[in-house]
Amino acid sequence: MSSPEKTLLRQLTAKNRKYNMRKTPQRSCISCRNVFDKKDLLRIVRTPEGEVEVDPTGKMSGRGAYICSNPECIKKQLSGKSRLASNLNANITSEQRDEIKMKIEEYFRISEGDGKEH
Ligand SMILES: [Zn+2]
Repeated sequence: MSSPEKTLLRQLTAKNRKYNMRKTPQRSCISCRNVFDKKDLLRIVRTPEGEVEVDPTGKMSGRGAYICSNPECIKKQLSGKSRLASNLNANITSEQRDEIKMKIEEYFRISEGDGKEH
């Protein structure tokens, strides 16, 4: 007893799975340019007011950039001349930069310190 319906259903399911996989939004990190699932990246936004904000919800309006959890990427974007600022075409003070860096590290739970819990 063959069951063409079952085969068809299986094919459809496989198709759907593939479709869903392709639908996972992907973005590239502004620093290393590697492509990641959007959920693995943190969105940073330049708001219409010209402020740079960390946007964990991904829903803030403004020009967005994505950064991955690699500490090197974060360091690169947020130290010295701050490439992040030029990527977003925004002016950020070193104070703001430190704050943003802190928020990013907090988001990715990166501890640069001695590994002690605070
Ligand atoms: Zn990166």
